[in-house]
Amino acid sequence: MPPAHPFDDDKLREECGIFGVVGVKDAANFVALGLHALQHRGQEAGGIVTHDPELGFNSARRFGYVRDNFTSSDVMESLPGPIGIGHVRYSTAGSKGQTAIRDVQPFFGEFSMGGAAIAHNGNITNANALRRELIERGSIFQSSSDSECIIHLMARSLQRNIPERMEDALRRVEGAFSVVAMTRTKLIGVRDPLGVRPLVLGKIGDGWCLASETCALDIIGAEFLREIEPGEMVVINAQNGVESHFPFRRQPSKFCIFEHVYFSRPDSILGGRSVYETREAIGRELAKESPVDADLVCPVPDSGTPAAIGYSLESGIPYAMGIIRNQYMGRTFIEPTEQIRNMGVRLKLNVNRALIEGKRVILVDDSVVRGTTSRKIKEMILDAGAKEVHFRIASPPTAWPCFYGVDTPQREKLLAATMTEEEMTKHLAVDSLKFISLDGLYRAVGESQGRSKDCPQYCDACFSGEYPVTPADMVEQGFKMQPAAE
Ligand code: SF4
Repeated sequence: MPPAHPFDDDKLREECGIFGVVGVKDAANFVALGLHALQHRGQEAGGIVTHDPELGFNSARRFGYVRDNFTSSDVMESLPGPIGIGHVRYSTAGSKGQTAIRDVQPFFGEFSMGGAAIAHNGNITNANALRRELIERGSIFQSSSDSECIIHLMARSLQRNIPERMEDALRRVEGAFSVVAMTRTKLIGVRDPLGVRPLVLGKIGDGWCLASETCALDIIGAEFLREIEPGEMVVINAQNGVESHFPFRRQPSKFCIFEHVYFSRPDSILGGRSVYETREAIGRELAKESPVDADLVCPVPDSGTPAAIGYSLESGIPYAMGIIRNQYMGRTFIEPTEQIRNMGVRLKLNVNRALIEGKRVILVDDSVVRGTTSRKIKEMILDAGAKEVHFRIASPPTAWPCFYGVDTPQREKLLAATMTEEEMTKHLAVDSLKFISLDGLYRAVGESQGRSKDCPQYCDACFSGEYPVTPADMVEQGFKMQPAAE
């Protein structure tokens, strides 16, 4: 599958998007549109489950884009009913690069009180231990996905109804989860106690919907009501509306700060503010922290664009589209060899030579992961005749892997895990390289006092190494967390 971003192998990747709706005619159409709007969160595969009072539960799970799979009348007519949920994914825990269709969500379970389907965004950090325990007690797993643990835990619960069984199951689960689930009549949404991954609530006509991001509400014309709170469970019935409760111990929120930087779409709303505005604020903060004399500010398209605009506005240095992205790159060129990958950057991006020649250029990108792409882009800019190249990065150095539902290379593959900023500057052979500070990033997302040392307001583990939930499975496999004193 072609990646969402031209350099997806050199970016962190959000692994899932989820959507659910109840109380509408032909729910599957709404789910498909919602998933289409969330395609940037997962492009490898997608699935939809619906329920019809006469025809029962139906599901379709496919590899590839939503637009290629969930538009034909054959598929959509096989998904009747007024309630449905869906999921788009990259490969998640257990199946990276070799996903089987059985790993594609939503997962379905038949219980004594009726069926239920669930779709999960995030990562269960104690999934290995849970899976071992469940298998020892007789569970038969169908997939290699960590999310399937939730269904088996629900099956073992003694509670009387499905929402209560879900609560029971999720109390055993550690890590990050935003979940949408459905029974025959109820749509259920849950966020983990730290609220690491997003989930929002919307209203459409007499119906209701849940989505990873507000852009998925916009596409179906739904009204954005609010974010589901960390630790909140909502149970929605078309007749009775939304029931909300908080089944978990309350904890300070740790929303993923990288959603603001890169994962979420710029037209989504997070924390009451548009993601675009936040990214522009990040660029402004970056310009204050790391000014440099130059002639042009250029974004690395597309994700660097709002921050580049912010940098330009704050610094007064003109903004220019110095790099143009070819929007129509297909899958033809996505091959796994290093040689083709390097060529791929040129095929997907082209330098606007007429603008760049003889100029001192500031390039603004959202992050540096492996650094391979940054190097390539720098070469392209110099080849086009730039006098100087200065990188400004809209996130702090990514030095730690994420274990909460984001695909990250192993720690030793992260450029910032093995090099200081000075060493990275030399390695990339640029005139200067500066990352926004953690405090600067916190200010840009609306925390005027910066990052609280005692209780950081967000999850920022991929920058700080301070993991809000111990990644138990990874520690068991030898992952070394940062000593607290460091
Ligand atoms: S480790 Fe980074 S990417 Fe993962 S949830 Fe935390 S901030 Fe987000």
